Amino acid sequence: MAHKSLSSLNWVSRFLDETPGDGLAGGGPRQVPGACWSRVKPEPMPNPVLRMWSEEMASELGLEVAEEGLLSGNRIATGMDPYAQRYGGHQFGTWAGQLGDGRAITLGEVDTGEKILELQLKGSGKTPYSRFADGRAVLRSSIREFLCSEAMHHLGVPTTRALSLVTTGEDVVRDIMYDGSPAPEPGAIVCRVAESFIRFGSFQIHTISGDNQTLRILVDNTVKQHFPGHSTDTDEGLIEWLKEVADRTTLTIAHWMRVGFVHGVMNTDNMSIHGLTIDYGPYGWLEDFDPDWTPNTTDAGSKRYKFGQQAQVGAWNYARLLDSIAPLMEDPEGLYQALDSYYDAYQAHSSRMWVEKLGLGEFRSGDEVLVTELESMLQMSETDMTIFFRLLSAIEEPNVNGLRFAFYDEEAPVDEWNAWLDKWWIRVGGSPDRKAMMGANPKYVLRNWMAQLAIDAAEKEDYSVASELYEMLKRPYDDQPDCDEKWFNKRPEWARNRVGCSMLSCSS
Ligand code: AMP
Ligand code: MG
Repeated sequence: MAHKSLSSLNWVSRFLDETPGDGLAGGGPRQVPGACWSRVKPEPMPNPVLRMWSEEMASELGLEVAEEGLLSGNRIATGMDPYAQRYGGHQFGTWAGQLGDGRAITLGEVDTGEKILELQLKGSGKTPYSRFADGRAVLRSSIREFLCSEAMHHLGVPTTRALSLVTTGEDVVRDIMYDGSPAPEPGAIVCRVAESFIRFGSFQIHTISGDNQTLRILVDNTVKQHFPGHSTDTDEGLIEWLKEVADRTTLTIAHWMRVGFVHGVMNTDNMSIHGLTIDYGPYGWLEDFDPDWTPNTTDAGSKRYKFGQQAQVGAWNYARLLDSIAPLMEDPEGLYQALDSYYDAYQAHSSRMWVEKLGLGEFRSGDEVLVTELESMLQMSETDMTIFFRLLSAIEEPNVNGLRFAFYDEEAPVDEWNAWLDKWWIRVGGSPDRKAMMGANPKYVLRNWMAQLAIDAAEKEDYSVASELYEMLKRPYDDQPDCDEKWFNKRPEWARNRVGCSMLSCSS
């Protein structure tokens, strides 16, 4: 029997069939008023080579073979009907107008029998939304997206997924630090997968252009396809749906805070309506616990998207989503209920996360003080977040000696630490819920320098580091002793100020 290939999947095109699109297929960069999408073909690449492949994603889709030609967009299988989505967005707090998929092309939606998933190529050429850019993606950012989105999935964080990474055989020119030194880099394409890639900005673009008719169709269709059980017929229905979006968004952000992930570019066009982590760009992982840290050099001045501000920025973005739904409401005042629900939902998710991280069993009054004190202690001595919580999960007595390995600074204040540990120990009655802690405090995360080592090797056509990390990150909560010396470790000194490790730009 033939192996199941992309061509033999059950392709559907709900989004194209049910929402208004561009009358023109393809074509150069332009405004496309009134449309949710434009049909467009991926550009052929000279020499596609498959480099990474997610067996699990493939089996979820019912796929048995990886076809480079299709995963690079060189060929289109029967049933695929490729398009780029149109959306807008607030970038760094300012309305940026029409953005859209400038280098992402959806191949189509696959009905697996259990669910419908959208497959999208990132880096496969220009679309009407490419504006001034080339529609390509470079290998380093593609490796970062492939590894991190799969790692996030295994950490239990809602995310878009990755199916494959293909190098294109084509050089792409990038000026990594925007300092006037452009250089060629290998190009690549990631095939990513999600229920949909609809973003807050997908709705905003219609409202801001005064196109309530298209807005209405997109809202009705999104809810019908992706939020079963919800209705958009009344204000109450819309509010309930929006509360669900708040719940999912805050859940994901609470997870980011749990694992030490900084998205880096929380523009409204990078906010999934499903609450998925989406658009892996200059993201980063906390090494030392620093709420003011952002990996994104473009944001170094105002640090809008720093670790400690992600929930607040999420609220600001969510308020923009609410603005965009207002024209559909008889009484837009009702949207305040949804906004309130954002804060309540975040509190609930965040408290639960802390209960698990600290093995508290349940949230009691006074616990917030324990958490706040811990957060300031973690900043007082330069402390590795991941190592700290992992060691805390196994500590046998409330003594800082068991945590030493987490400190960059050997001189961590012993008395202060022991005082906090005593308080925590009393709170948990000398027996923290270790199972909860081990399941909430990962041992292995994709630290920036780890991804950089995988990239350095891959740029020399050696994918062994990327594969090694990929395998390890599929089991982030399990002790994997063979990995510890290399990967359960604090940031090496070489990585402290290296581009790609502590500093990342949007250039990708
Ligand atoms: P991002 O910062 O990756 O979320 O991208 C913001 C916008 O720029 C989106 O509309 C992207 O599709 C677009 N974009 C980013 N990089 C490129 C590129 N190389 N070519 C075309 N469009 C791009
Ligand atoms: Mg984006």
